[in-house]
Amino acid sequence: MSHETESIYGGVEAMLDDLEALYKDVHRHPELSMQETRTAALAAERLRAAGFEVTPGVGKTGVVGLLRNGDGPTVMLRADMDALPVSEQSGLDYASTTDGVMHACGHDMHVAWLAGAAARLAAARDQWQGTLMAVFQPAEETAEGAQAMIDDGLFDRFPKPDVVLGQHVMPAPAGSIGTRSGVITSAADSFEIRMFGRGAHGSMPEASVDPVVMAAATVLRLQTIVSREVAPAQSAVVTVGALQAGTKENVIPDEAVIKLNVRTFDEDVRTHVLDAIRRIVEAEAQASGAPGPPEITALDHYQLVRNDPGAATRIRTAFRAHFGDDRVVDIPPISASEDFGSFGSEWHAPSVFWTVGGTDPDTYRRARDAGRLAELPTNHNPRFAPVIHPTLETGVATLLAAACAWLAAG
Ligand SMILES: [Zn+2]
Ligand SMILES: [Zn+2]
Repeated sequence: MSHETESIYGGVEAMLDDLEALYKDVHRHPELSMQETRTAALAAERLRAAGFEVTPGVGKTGVVGLLRNGDGPTVMLRADMDALPVSEQSGLDYASTTDGVMHACGHDMHVAWLAGAAARLAAARDQWQGTLMAVFQPAEETAEGAQAMIDDGLFDRFPKPDVVLGQHVMPAPAGSIGTRSGVITSAADSFEIRMFGRGAHGSMPEASVDPVVMAAATVLRLQTIVSREVAPAQSAVVTVGALQAGTKENVIPDEAVIKLNVRTFDEDVRTHVLDAIRRIVEAEAQASGAPGPPEITALDHYQLVRNDPGAATRIRTAFRAHFGDDRVVDIPPISASEDFGSFGSEWHAPSVFWTVGGTDPDTYRRARDAGRLAELPTNHNPRFAPVIHPTLETGVATLLAAACAWLAAG
């Protein structure tokens, strides 16, 4: 990090009250995926005030801000904006005021981070050169938002970035940052599988093809994919999250529905697991004498998020220079999934995603010492509540350090 860019951080302290107010405001007013109109308006207003050219309504509620500041690289910073259908139980005085909707994944923090970094870089534009592109994305939680922006012409309407950068708040000590080269979040695939039998009176099984037994056998055999077909050094998750059939004890129903979710960290493993699911489901239906083949419907797909090795090294070096070695840790791949990867992979631009801790460091230490880390509320938990400081200032500073690793050299 050059000497001059250090002063970019100097202004962060003075913005913190304002950013905290923005964070609490967004937290109080969570909006579900593809409905982030209020949040998007707040983001657009912040960008306009900082002097960005602002394009709202990209992919329905997405917002793109451009700050052209001379020759140099183009850096895209991305924040997601959507909340979840979760009833908040955090007990915070700034808890959600919308019934059954909560910022349980911390995307409100992401919005405040990016608003802060965009304002700071705009104010310090004499210290860097290039183009800054701030992207506020809808609907990460439903895997729709990045694609909606891309389908709405993101790649044609805006300059192609030299690097695409994003970050996520996670349950780790606040103030710490997690980086990684290569795959950082898993691919996720969800399916609904409908298996067909033949209904009959519960006393006459011979007249039926029982979809309850068919589905039960299928669920058990699906468990053998990871244990028997994936190599020990590889990994995958196959979770059957829903299994539904029948209404009454003495009626054999005529169909069963299975909903499942798959996580993988490697394209070849993913292909193998998805093929195995189809093979098993079709074979179990056939083994049961099903009157028709099962219907397999894909529900959603998140691709692997893969950090470009060169760009990831550049980011880690910048983070270590600014935060010190002990605050920047190398993390293993995360089994959560993200649609952030779509921007870099479909635009053929290097991208890097990292994590920022959001748990009060004392709470984290006590839980770790007591062997109870697993009990800390994770993302999507109704009690998920990142501690505001130093989470807020850390996430602003990471964006500044990462962006400057390109722009300050511009
Ligand atoms: Zn989430
Ligand atoms: Zn999230």
